[in-house]
Amino acid sequence: MIPMVDLKTQYHALKQEIDRAVLDALESTQFILGPNVTNLEAEAAAYLGTPHAVTCASGTDALHLAVLAAGIQPGDEVITTPFTFIATAEAIRYAGAVPVFVDVDPATFNIVPELIERAITPRTKAVIPVHLFGQPADMTAISDICSRHNLVLIEDCAQSFGAAVGGRMTGTIGRFGCFSFFPSKNLGGYGDGGMIVCGTAEDADQLKMLRNHGSRVRYHHDVIGFNSRLDDLQAAILRVKLRHIDRFNQERRRVAHRYSEGLKDRVTVPFEDGKGVHVYHQYTLLSDRRDAVMAALSGQQIASAIYYPIPLHRQNVFAGECRDLSLPVAESLASRCMSLPIYPEMTDEQVDRVVAAVREALA
Ligand SMILES: *Cc1c(COP(=O)(O)O)cnc(C)c1O
Repeated sequence: MIPMVDLKTQYHALKQEIDRAVLDALESTQFILGPNVTNLEAEAAAYLGTPHAVTCASGTDALHLAVLAAGIQPGDEVITTPFTFIATAEAIRYAGAVPVFVDVDPATFNIVPELIERAITPRTKAVIPVHLFGQPADMTAISDICSRHNLVLIEDCAQSFGAAVGGRMTGTIGRFGCFSFFPSKNLGGYGDGGMIVCGTAEDADQLKMLRNHGSRVRYHHDVIGFNSRLDDLQAAILRVKLRHIDRFNQERRRVAHRYSEGLKDRVTVPFEDGKGVHVYHQYTLLSDRRDAVMAALSGQQIASAIYYPIPLHRQNVFAGECRDLSLPVAESLASRCMSLPIYPEMTDEQVDRVVAAVREALA
């Protein structure tokens, strides 16, 4: 069996380090906002090359807290991509704002800067690009649009920890960068977790207050906040994994490039735009015969998945407001995309087995 991700092999490879970190955290009994949280924030900020990192309970919360810290109000419009996980748009809705979906690039699957600019209205307050599947969005063009129109730029980096573009890590280009530590992400914990990075002490202070009941000093509450803290136990595990993230991402790139060599004459393999470093959270190809390929893989005990089968503007939850919206590229990608297993510990032999199965299905 070849799964989509293999967390067990990775745990066994890191078992000594992780078990020690967890046992130390248990012994310290500082389970909430303890030393591992503080240290992870400092280490992640240093790794990413940014002044401030604030952890929270999930990637979804990271987006939600960033949207609130950006001052987005009910009725404001936020431009984002329809080809992403629902959480990107949920965060906008939590603040009472309106997600405005614009189409994506057929090669990179990322939001198209020119379409962002065309969708701006007097109510637009922010833009949330997603670095989908680990490939950085076109941040030079998007930052330029945001500064010319005075829009807040919030990066959804849930799939791009360690990806860089223009010599900077994703997450450090906009005013806020939002990360997820969901177990299957490039940097994943053993439960839910998230983090926001930002450049100013004021924003970091606001985020810290929001994640902890609107409080700076215990039992003094300045705003209505949330219970959205990262567990110290999760932080202990993430600190261990952060030390290996460059290798994890290099191994993902090895797997991806081996897939592409083996498959490029049969399917549309992922396009690397050369502007940044793609960290392959997913390896997503396009084929008009997706169903046949997936059935054949399943017959050989090889997992595969569709990310994402329905673009957000076609989801039931947005069906009313998006009834007249047509985003042909996102719709076409959703009907032809499929993702193959990818994880740092995947062997060349496993990759070759998947390649052979895909080729056989399309022969
Ligand atoms: C995983 C993911 C999220 C949400 O992260 P959680 O930690 O699961 O809440 C948000 N956006 C994207 C693009 C994701 O892939």
